[in-house]
Amino acid sequence: MKKNICDCLPEELETECIEILHQPRYRADQLLEQIYIHHVSRFRDMNVLPKPLRSLLDEHFHYLLPTIDKRFEAADGTIKYLFRLEDGVFIESVLIREGKRKTVCFSSQAGCPLECRFCATGLGGFKRNLTTAEIVGQILAIEQDIREKVNNCVAMGQGEPLLNYEKVKQAIALFVHKKAMNLSSRHVTISTVGIVPGIQRLADEELPCRLAISLHSATGKIRDEIVPVNKKYPLGELRKALDYYAEKTSNRITFEYILLAGKNDSKEDIAALAAFIKGLPAFVNIIPFNEVPHIAFKRPSKNRVDFFQKECEIMDIEAFVRQEKGSEIMAACGQLTQ
Ligand code: SAH
Repeated sequence: MKKNICDCLPEELETECIEILHQPRYRADQLLEQIYIHHVSRFRDMNVLPKPLRSLLDEHFHYLLPTIDKRFEAADGTIKYLFRLEDGVFIESVLIREGKRKTVCFSSQAGCPLECRFCATGLGGFKRNLTTAEIVGQILAIEQDIREKVNNCVAMGQGEPLLNYEKVKQAIALFVHKKAMNLSSRHVTISTVGIVPGIQRLADEELPCRLAISLHSATGKIRDEIVPVNKKYPLGELRKALDYYAEKTSNRITFEYILLAGKNDSKEDIAALAAFIKGLPAFVNIIPFNEVPHIAFKRPSKNRVDFFQKECEIMDIEAFVRQEKGSEIMAACGQLTQ
């Protein structure tokens, strides 16, 4: 089977170019520039390369980005992409613009096995893990579409990145590699529901990325109910893994906290949150629940959101309310499903 070129690290490509294709080393650099800087989507269109080499590349490598099946653009500039993969499976990604920052919220799995009660993705079930090329390909296809470079990547699309660890790890390596996407590690974020062994591994291997934890409740009973994987990796275990991560990396951790009216938005919930994150280098992103068809939770009022944020401040929790983007095209957090 031919290797997908977007699965390969620049070093691997160099070796293949020299040892198998018998090319000088600089050809590998030119090839990488064609893919990651100029976004040329077919070998045959890479005019800087000699024609025989372009045919040789076609014989040795596979180069196919996810295909844009649908594209929804919101008034605030957010674009939701529905991509079709080679085997006909669909995934979604979202481009969010905030000033100079262009963020892609990418998927790490097609569907999701976790069934968090408030999230649209879990409703559709799990299909499969994505390959590295399919993860990196989402960003490349979007850059091709908007003709601009993306400068921030977050694994907050469909799926649980730490349940697809190897492929996500390789994608991160390509995101930050100087000869590939060349992003700063501060601009790559892995968001996880709290897969404890994955967090430990991420710390041990010092992956060049930031960590976000989808916490949503610091009370075992409530978290069990809204995030069922909490039964497998309960809050105590999660906290231990986070202490380990903080000690190893000294990175700040983001906690994501969806506000569900009447469920996790009381003073007691804030006290539990404060106790859970005490001593960690952390801040909290408050995400007012985005309503999703077939899901019964309600979005809290603006007053309630303000109350929650103020109470957090009083408890010495640094908390921001996440600006909602793209909700009219069902591209906001938790609305990704097709
Ligand atoms: N599995 C990972 C990656 C998915 S991220 C994780 O759980 O972190 C998706 C983000 O959107 C998470 O913070 C998730 O909790 C949040 N989210 C899911 N459904 C939502 C909804 N209906 N409204 C607002 N945020 C939601």
